[in-house]
Amino acid sequence: MKDTLKKKMNNLRDLTLGELESFLTAMGQPAYRARQIYRWVFSAKARRLDEMTDLPQDLRRELSQAFQIDTPRIAHLSPRAPDGTRKYLFEFQRGDRVEAVYLPGPSSQTVCISTQVGCSLNCEFCATGRMGFSRNLSAGEMVSQVFEIEKEEGAKIRNVVLMGMGEPFYNFDAVMKALNLFTDSKGIGLSARRLTVSTIGIVPAIERITREGMNAKLAISLHATNDHQRSRIIPVNKTYPLEALMKALRAYAHVTRYPITFEYILIKDLNDRPEDAEALSLLLRNIPAKINILGLHPTGSTWLPSPQERVVAFQQKLRATGLNVTLRTSRGLECNAACGQLATPIPSSVRTGSTNLTDDIKKKRAR
Ligand code: SF4
Repeated sequence: MKDTLKKKMNNLRDLTLGELESFLTAMGQPAYRARQIYRWVFSAKARRLDEMTDLPQDLRRELSQAFQIDTPRIAHLSPRAPDGTRKYLFEFQRGDRVEAVYLPGPSSQTVCISTQVGCSLNCEFCATGRMGFSRNLSAGEMVSQVFEIEKEEGAKIRNVVLMGMGEPFYNFDAVMKALNLFTDSKGIGLSARRLTVSTIGIVPAIERITREGMNAKLAISLHATNDHQRSRIIPVNKTYPLEALMKALRAYAHVTRYPITFEYILIKDLNDRPEDAEALSLLLRNIPAKINILGLHPTGSTWLPSPQERVVAFQQKLRATGLNVTLRTSRGLECNAACGQLATPIPSSVRTGSTNLTDDIKKKRAR
């Protein structure tokens, strides 16, 4: 038992309380020791075992044979944008890197974190997609991005969006585990309403969270109103076309009663005409929806942003249909930290070129 756990779970930030209890029980320790360690890791945000001063030295020594607390190095910190936004480049022990973004607000602070090193989905408007895929992050590596930014900024993070590098639902198990760690009242204790998972629209995963629930709100990167448009900028739309996606989202909304946020990047001459606004309102009928209209950010794509007058007209047309629409300001542009702009070179030594889907999702995709 101990050897298995030692090989599989060497980062204490990767462990749920239940997993920690199993490990401590196997060591012959009482369960309350697990709760003590869990509090140190996730409430006190300890970075070393020797900070856990209420644990006997022998236990700390024994634990240190099996576990450490992995803290990624801040390899680069962008200059702060005028609104306080900063982009972080984190380097993990094996040398691969991800970016995360700190977004301060008037009343609460938000962090946008990555879930994968790179991404296999190659969306046209996204710099991460051009990197290719290297590997999935563990739950602890997702938690660490928040902890390290919190420490550097000296700020209490209240909101976490899983909207950085990677498709969260292609790293399903680790993302669900991270959400459970973020929301566990015995540890970090964030409200699930302050967590958001943003997906390009992986239908089997949406069906799964409809059945099993998810400790976060759901956001969909929609960006188009028909398959012809959408497949031009989002290749995975050919696997999960709009009809299947909307059917899964209607079921999710019906079962959970939670509103869904739809992200819609306005792209010149692709999806920004008045008839696209009408098609969007029809597509979202009977779904409790919030629409965020976004600008196209510079990422080296050949597509162009929609002119301002079309953006305004699109928004007005949508509002007239009664939809809840927000024109989002492009935060972080000054430091290349806006949506779609996160990317890091992948060392060839760690590139694998394939995703690690959960078995459940793999089976469904094969059908
Ligand atoms: S938009 Fe999301 S899914 Fe598409 S390439 Fe970028 S990170 Fe991947």
